[in-house]
Amino acid sequence: MAAEIWTPLKLIAWAQGYLARAGVDAPRLTAELLLAHALGCVRLRLYLDFDKPVAEPELARYRLLLKRRADGEPTAYLVGVKEFYGRDFRIDVRALIPRPETELVVEAALAHLPATGGVALDLCTGSGCIGITLALERPCSRVLASDVSADALGLARENADQLGVGLELLQGDLFAPVPADVRFDVIAANPPYVPTGELRRLARELHREPVLALDGGEDGLSVTRRLVSDAAARLRPGGALVVEMHESHLESLPALCLELGFEDAEARRDLADLPRFVVARAKA
Ligand code: GLN
Repeated sequence: MAAEIWTPLKLIAWAQGYLARAGVDAPRLTAELLLAHALGCVRLRLYLDFDKPVAEPELARYRLLLKRRADGEPTAYLVGVKEFYGRDFRIDVRALIPRPETELVVEAALAHLPATGGVALDLCTGSGCIGITLALERPCSRVLASDVSADALGLARENADQLGVGLELLQGDLFAPVPADVRFDVIAANPPYVPTGELRRLARELHREPVLALDGGEDGLSVTRRLVSDAAARLRPGGALVVEMHESHLESLPALCLELGFEDAEARRDLADLPRFVVARAKA
């Protein structure tokens, strides 16, 4: 890139091609997000300053980001932020990167959380995105969140503080740290659910994320099975469990919920039309 004058417009066009050749998804958007990060500005600014030359230190920073992205580091880890349900969450290797499909889990959980006086629990909270969003969308509710990883909880705490929400964060395995006397209107969870065999075949980006947040054991249900078996007793009568799942759990997970005492259980699809989560109702 030496003697040439590089403007945001030229940089984005060049980077888009570079990322596309490296097999990166959404190369144009990625080129823009990384350039905005290198310049320390918001993405819109790139187009306001589209022909303003970019100085060498920023160019060097951008080149490094592009190289790391091409080598498989996820964009969210490089820029340290990921939007979820319209808000920016701080993201790093301590937790899974929030996915758009998990916004549907939030939406389904909100449908079961009353406007005032509701009580919700987010299990395997990771970055905190589900629990924090529930708390922000239902400010008159009480929201608890747990995770087995102290690292993840540290990140969830930072996000809760940054977004100005009072969330009760608990460290431990699933319900273990959750006070036994609390009954929930809704329990939401995005547990690790990828079958171990499939993890090895997944996109290389995924290998940068904590395996603890992804590996669901041989059939992908080893954590979910324990979660569902304890959930009914923790819900208020008629309360809801909303749990994200692998597409291969379309039949097995609703069946498991019924077997473990739920009144009904329905699998729902994500935006790619894949079965992605189950909503199960506790007996009224
Ligand atoms: N949605 C993730 C994926 O398949 C998996 C998340 C999880 O295991 N909770 O990439």
